Amino acid sequence: MAATDQTREQAVVDSVPKGLYIGGEWRETDETLGVEDPSTGEVIAEVADAQVDDALAALGAAHDAQGDWAETASRERGEILRRAYDLMIERVDDLELLMTLEMGKPIAESKAEVTYAADFLHWFAGEATRISGEFKPAEKGGFRVLTMRQPVGPCLFITPWNFPLAMGTRKIGPAIAAGCTAVIKPAKQTPLSMLAFAQILEEAGLPGGVLNVVTAKSSGSIMEPLIKDPRTRKLSFTGSTEVGKKLIEQSADQVLRVSMELGGNAPFLIFDDADVDDAVEGAMIAKMRNIGEACTSANRFHVAEAVADEFAEKLAQKMGALKIGRGADPDVKVGPLIDDDQRGKVAELVEDARDKGAKVLVGGENAEGAGYYYKPTVLSDVSDDARVLSEEIFGPVAPVKGFQSEDEAIAAANDTEYGLVAYVYTSNLKRAFRVIEGLETGMVGLNQGLVSNAGAPFGGVKQSGFGREGGKEGINEYLETKYVAMKV
Ligand code: NAP
Repeated sequence: MAATDQTREQAVVDSVPKGLYIGGEWRETDETLGVEDPSTGEVIAEVADAQVDDALAALGAAHDAQGDWAETASRERGEILRRAYDLMIERVDDLELLMTLEMGKPIAESKAEVTYAADFLHWFAGEATRISGEFKPAEKGGFRVLTMRQPVGPCLFITPWNFPLAMGTRKIGPAIAAGCTAVIKPAKQTPLSMLAFAQILEEAGLPGGVLNVVTAKSSGSIMEPLIKDPRTRKLSFTGSTEVGKKLIEQSADQVLRVSMELGGNAPFLIFDDADVDDAVEGAMIAKMRNIGEACTSANRFHVAEAVADEFAEKLAQKMGALKIGRGADPDVKVGPLIDDDQRGKVAELVEDARDKGAKVLVGGENAEGAGYYYKPTVLSDVSDDARVLSEEIFGPVAPVKGFQSEDEAIAAANDTEYGLVAYVYTSNLKRAFRVIEGLETGMVGLNQGLVSNAGAPFGGVKQSGFGREGGKEGINEYLETKYVAMKV
């Protein structure tokens, strides 16, 4: 790495506050938490390690700010979001580098995430001023029905490491727009992007206490007391289904309103009437976005027998040609996985498939380098009992499996406890609707490998969770409906 690159990287990391952001102030802690660059395994920063008292102070600040924030004009709330959007776009170069340094993804992908994350602020800046109710005569007469929408109240947000900014702004944008205050706890591997974002909100004029950020080594011990605290009115979690289930249980204590954006196992279906080259392009996006570390990542490719070999070979060729390396290098297309555990899990799934008869068309092993690199991998002849088909891979591995009929394809797609997203490639519109209607998922990509969009309702069914983020639905997660029966 050239000395100038190193200086710039250091300057970007140094520019981020490393404390807890509580009540509009940055607070240091005695203990700290090291943040690693997954491309080198080196610690690049130390951030605050919150204890239970710090977390309770953050909730206290959110609770104290709630009343005034709910009364702040919606136009003012929207304008703060809009200013924060402008600042994010202005600083995209620094934000993308910071994200790549702590998470590992290629710089172009970090840029795409910063823009996507900012889009939620833009979208909800507009939605803030469109919160409305209803007024009507009761259907049998005698009185009037008034419905009004009010902010839910102080929220808790817990977010994962794979999209360090966007998973936060998908919650923070609508909460601010609706008039809710919040405490957010980003993942311990990637706290820097969220700290940089809190600084942006501060500069955009967000009053102290409306958003509070706590970073911690021990998420469970600091968050459970907040989830069970009566001042909390809502929990929104993005992460694994396993942790989501625990948090739902904890939320039962005070019947907390809950949104859950959990794991996925997305099927990617290609019918024999599809354009195979288009399908390969879409597959590259659906599989390789974020190095396969996305809840929306295509986990398994179900392909009509007539085109399965052609698709697998073309995909293997493209996957094998991607440059692997440090994400900060602009030519790199595949960065390191987040840590050694994640890489170990990916390798284990490939070994299991190989032991059960799968052919490795490309990849199938760690790549060289100090970071947690794994080669893009395509598997064919995958047996039905291979774990790679039923478990979330979260890495650059594409198992390809043939099918004989449309019914078989739909049944295979739905044969999972997850239900986040599915991808369908076909040129037959009648078939497209039949298949889409048969799929048990919250989202479908038809002839495209990307569904994420701030103006659309993102979310899953089955064990992928409940609630929607983005779109006109997104703000409803932060509003309560009050009905008034009026005799006047
Ligand atoms: P994870 O292990 O569930 O962690 C997610 C967040 O929960 C992190 O902030 C983590 O903190 C925190 N956490 C862990 N245990 C906790 C506990 N007992 N109490 C409170 N908080 C706790 O998931 P991950 O490995 O970071 O992320 C990958 C998963 O997220 C995948 O399953 C992926 O599909 C899912 N995901 C879903 C969506 C969606 O929109 N549906 C989007 C992105 C990712 P620490 O970092 O401190 O452990």
